[in-house]
Amino acid sequence: MKNHNKYPNLFSPIKIGSLTLPNRVIMGSMHTGLEEEKGGFVKLAKFYAERVKGGAALIVTGGISPNMSGVTAWGGSRITRVWHARKHEKITEAVHNEGGRIIMQILHAGRYAYTPFAVAPSAIKSPISKFKPRALSSRGVKRTIKSFVRAAQLAQIAGYDGVEVMGSEGYLINEFIASETNKRTDEWGGSFENRTRFPLEIVEQIRDVTGPNFVIMYRLSMLDLVHGGSSWDEVEMLAKSIEKAGANVINTGIGWHEARIPTIATMVPRGGFAFVTKRLMGKLGIPLITTNRFNDPENCEQALADKCADMISMARPFLADPFIMKKSELGVPEQINTCIACNQACLDHVFKQKIASCLVNPRACEEDAWPEAESGLSMGQRGEKVAVIGAGPAGMSCASELANLGFEVDLFEKADSLGGQFNVAKKIPGKEEFHSTIRYFSNRLSRLNVNIKLSCEVDAEMLIAGGYSNIVLASGVLPRRWKIPGSDRDEVVDYLQVLKGEVEVGDNVAIIGAGGIGFDVADFITHDADDAGFLESWGIDEQMEERGGLAQPMRTVSKRKVHLLQRSPGKPGAKLGKTTGWIHRVTLRDRGVKMLSGIEYVKLDDSGLHCIHENKGEFVLPVDNVIVCAGQVPFAPLKDELEKRGVKVSIIGGALNASGLDAQRAIREGLALATELAV
Ligand code: FAD
Ligand code: NAP
Ligand code: SF4
Repeated sequence: MKNHNKYPNLFSPIKIGSLTLPNRVIMGSMHTGLEEEKGGFVKLAKFYAERVKGGAALIVTGGISPNMSGVTAWGGSRITRVWHARKHEKITEAVHNEGGRIIMQILHAGRYAYTPFAVAPSAIKSPISKFKPRALSSRGVKRTIKSFVRAAQLAQIAGYDGVEVMGSEGYLINEFIASETNKRTDEWGGSFENRTRFPLEIVEQIRDVTGPNFVIMYRLSMLDLVHGGSSWDEVEMLAKSIEKAGANVINTGIGWHEARIPTIATMVPRGGFAFVTKRLMGKLGIPLITTNRFNDPENCEQALADKCADMISMARPFLADPFIMKKSELGVPEQINTCIACNQACLDHVFKQKIASCLVNPRACEEDAWPEAESGLSMGQRGEKVAVIGAGPAGMSCASELANLGFEVDLFEKADSLGGQFNVAKKIPGKEEFHSTIRYFSNRLSRLNVNIKLSCEVDAEMLIAGGYSNIVLASGVLPRRWKIPGSDRDEVVDYLQVLKGEVEVGDNVAIIGAGGIGFDVADFITHDADDAGFLESWGIDEQMEERGGLAQPMRTVSKRKVHLLQRSPGKPGAKLGKTTGWIHRVTLRDRGVKMLSGIEYVKLDDSGLHCIHENKGEFVLPVDNVIVCAGQVPFAPLKDELEKRGVKVSIIGGALNASGLDAQRAIREGLALATELAV
């Protein structure tokens, strides 16, 4: 592989313990759900091996519990027996055969264990779990340390190059360290020295039994983002002690899971927490890894050049593109399928006990199920010509996969650019990453020689004259019309008119529909309130003078009075992503947006929008504008016309079914149809 030297820091070798790595990026730990699936280790082996082929120098596995009480959820993966280790051998062999390195993360969930068997230093329930943990006895603490050590020994037996000791994100080790969650009065609680004895014993004893060449990475919570978290002095003291105890490298942990501050979602600026690791640079003799919202070689290179860390950890970007490092090294970053930090198919799946996938890369965790992303066929090789109508996510995905599988492809788009609704989505503050997906597909389509015909609203005549073997309709959706007395008045507009800048709404606005788009529109029209930067607005103390790094959030109320309404009862936006919905709700609440559910819309007239609330009865909202975000309906007018003339069409994305549509489904359907047509 040729190094184009675009990223000299990123591609300079580094030594951690006994390993010399060719680049400065590790693939961070990600639980995929395959760990618990029957036959999942075979799939995991393929998943990891693919990422090694793509240039990942060192991989950290998803968290594996050292005992029963430490599993994150019932049936969660643990390593306590030699036969458990044997299952892991499939992974280590596959990775080593490709020339890669892999370490196993040991994670004890502590009070976050979603089971009645959860344990913790003290019996204090976490705000995000329904289970109150049992406080470990002094003997229980010692037994737990032994189980960490045994897990490391078993990892060594399984052929791992080392272990990562998970000491952050509010899991068991972190709970020992923070005085808020550790109220013990024995030698494991009280003073800082006592509270940190637990992780130090773990590291020391692992080093003793695994010998000098086994890598020990320690994930250190450098910014807890919870009340009563560690002070910076404590973080620094612990880092030094961890090094002394035998760790070879320290990875950064940002924020406990219960912290009410976004740490990896798309609104977090790229590399936005690198300043934390930077504070520790120069204080230790072992390398430091920084993390959170790194997703492209440019921002990794910059962080290394700025001496924020010795190495970078990226996790989700390897789901989105297994070949991210290879493409970086080859100097073609424009070909990277960039992680947009949406969490929709990875973390949100895992929280629902589903196998992780990726919105922009449906092949992730299903490496066996689909044709290779680079099939090696050239366009037209099959001698069949396909028309794809619509270049939204579904159409771009299908057209590029068809060309990848040897079809000759004409892609028609009536707008003057590729992207479909993503061109509107990317205008939402904090969703700028959606640009990257359009850029990725544009490059892929060109590379695969797809004939892209922009500003071309295709009709049935053109398609029939084209002599296509298959016609794919990916023509998307139309906003659903809202019908009540007065809904035809001038002040009623739809979300597209607002987001495309075709109308400027007034100061009093009602939004009809509190789905994903209703929330996005509310964010868009109240953005005047977001005058502080990310750290200030979410209350993160950059100077880390306060424990846990918390400061007073700096939010102002929008000058617009916005009501976000929905008819169904319950929490507005309940269907938003599990890991991101709360962020949208907090943001809008702090900007003064009123969110109301259980609303019946009665009429719109000169006095405003007349509604009935399920409990509070009738009321009128004086409004300058009503923005309709009431979902969508499929848009596939060509279907009937073509079918009437005996032409068979395949339909994908919103054109097929607008209910429950999102970009994940659209992109996946594009890949699935192309694969089907190639059979
Ligand atoms: P579309 O994206 O609608 O694309 C259809 C394309 O077909 C359009 O470009 C259209 O111009 C073209 N077309 C139609 N007729 C013709 C014709 N006759 N000839 C040529 N071209 C034609 N989804 C998520 O998963 N996560 C999000 O966070 C998210 N945020 C969003 C935010 C906003 C503000 C919006 C509007 C949408 C968001 N979505 C999100 C939804 C997501 O964008 C859609 O689910 C997705 O774009 C649907 O893809 P599609 O290809 O089926 O349709
Ligand atoms: P949606 O999530 O289905 O929401 C539609 C909203 O309109 C609902 O709140 C619904 O609530 C209301 N509604 C439906 N029919 C109505 C009617 N006849 N009259 C009045 N109100 C009506 O759809 P969307 O907001 O348009 O989003 C489209 C897709 O994009 C979704 O699948 C979504 O997942 C995706 N998206 C995701 C995100 C994200 O952040 N993950 C962001 C944007 C979009 P009531 O029926 O209760 O009134
Ligand atoms: Fe990134 Fe979204 Fe894919 Fe998760 S689903 S890896 S956040 S692009």
